[in-house]
Amino acid sequence: MSAAQASRSVEEVWAHAAMAEEDKHLEEKDWRQTIRATCPNCQAPLATNAKFCPECGAKLKVELHCTECGTLLAPNAKFCPECGTKTGVK
Ligand SMILES: [Zn+2]
Ligand SMILES: [Zn+2]
Repeated sequence: MSAAQASRSVEEVWAHAAMAEEDKHLEEKDWRQTIRATCPNCQAPLATNAKFCPECGAKLKVELHCTECGTLLAPNAKFCPECGTKTGVK
């Protein structure tokens, strides 16, 4: 995944999700991670592993949890250490 794709907007995620039911499940996982990675200060959409908001510079404490089992993941984990689910980290 490129940086441009990782920072796609919430609207784009949902527009894409509406296109195919088969893709929707996967996109909803992206959606949840996108919500977690929204700036608490200005609500700018952030890359899932962003440490600072690119819009307002707010320091971010981003905690990633496995979408399947809820395990707290390392910020750069690509797969859940508990169940092997892909985390969406690019
Ligand atoms: Zn911000
Ligand atoms: Zn898991």
